[in-house]
Amino acid sequence: MPQHYKVKCQFCGIKFDDDGFILDCPAQHPETALLMTEYSALMFEPNCSEHGISRYHNWLPIRHHLYSAGRTVTYQSQKLSQRLGLPNLWIAFNGYCPEKGAMLVTSTFKELEAYTVVSRLGAQHTKTLVVASAGNTAAAFASVCSHNKVPCLIIVPESGLHRLKFTRSTRSVEEASGWTGMPAGDPQATSLRTLTSLDPVVKIVSLVGADYDDAIKLATSISQLDGFFQEGGVKNIGRRDGMGTTMLSAVETIGQLPDYYFQAIGSGAGAIAVHEAAKRLIADGRFGQKLPQLMLSQNFPFIPIYHAWKSQQRQLQSIDISKQQVKQIVADVLSNQRPPYAVIGGVFDVLKESQGDMFFANNQETLQAIDLFQETEGIALDPAAGVALATLIKASKYELIDCEAHILLHITGGRCHNSNQQLYLIQPSLQLTQQELFTQKTLEKVLALF
Ligand SMILES: [Zn+2]
Repeated sequence: MPQHYKVKCQFCGIKFDDDGFILDCPAQHPETALLMTEYSALMFEPNCSEHGISRYHNWLPIRHHLYSAGRTVTYQSQKLSQRLGLPNLWIAFNGYCPEKGAMLVTSTFKELEAYTVVSRLGAQHTKTLVVASAGNTAAAFASVCSHNKVPCLIIVPESGLHRLKFTRSTRSVEEASGWTGMPAGDPQATSLRTLTSLDPVVKIVSLVGADYDDAIKLATSISQLDGFFQEGGVKNIGRRDGMGTTMLSAVETIGQLPDYYFQAIGSGAGAIAVHEAAKRLIADGRFGQKLPQLMLSQNFPFIPIYHAWKSQQRQLQSIDISKQQVKQIVADVLSNQRPPYAVIGGVFDVLKESQGDMFFANNQETLQAIDLFQETEGIALDPAAGVALATLIKASKYELIDCEAHILLHITGGRCHNSNQQLYLIQPSLQLTQQELFTQKTLEKVLALF
């Protein structure tokens, strides 16, 4: 069956069929550029009979459908909107809150990317997927791969282990939202909602005293061994197009592209993804002709992208300085020390193309924003989402945005307090100290897990 999309290099323009794995352009050229998908469907036509992310199948590089996929819920804010004096504030919510129909069991938009990356692989592949994560991506891949029995090795710093949790609702999802997210009558439906342990094909390695950057290095090293392959982070078209469905959900609900898009960024992959989705929607012609301005934020004092953008440089400051700052921020998932900033199609380019800007919030501003969201929207936010809201508050207060404009606030990481949920923490299969990280014995230990 012919694929419904091609892969295209943003530098040399070469187009080719997807093998499910490719991360880089096969042509040789000095510049590195992100690959992109080019779909044969030019119009945005969600499949309304599908409730999860697969309703956007026409604009996803997926080959087969998996179970357990939720999607973004977009709604118009009432109380928060009034408090901030922003009448056209919309919230794109990626989290767990059955009352709002939000069913991402690991509570962040990383679940959208995990679903798409795994669905992009052919159903018959035999290699083990290797993923590095600060915590949220680990939870998402652990959940999706465990439900669907896809071999996966996840490497996470010890500080991110507390995020490896899954939601089990104590009442039926149908009762809460009128939706299961799965085919009616599917025998797996019950077990999918009650995951309490990992499937043996999924292994988690925790790094004691190490950070996200160390996790990325170890994952890169292992993925070069026979039988393993790298998920690829921002380079993976599945990851970006999965996260880009946040913009598709927003436009499906609002009926037009927003003027501004607020999100906190670690790597910035999510922001690149929504920008790419916005370009597709503009090409459709029915939702506006102006790209949403990307209003992106980081958590002070770890703000390398902010500094680089404000000095209009493609290069980031040195990692040695950043490592100390990482330890001081409350939103540690925003601590990516090698973001895809300079690469063609990366953060620098999407900020420029969208006429966007960078902001930051300190820890105190972030915690105040989290309190405000709890009070007005009844949802407990993860710190990263607090950073995004805190910068929206500042941009509004200092009149950096048009208050009448349509504003989309991307909230990823949040749970309702009253959703009768139980959380299950997943334990690692192996723990490594920083001293052990790059020894031959360590590689042997990891291989022995499979
Ligand atoms: Zn190329």
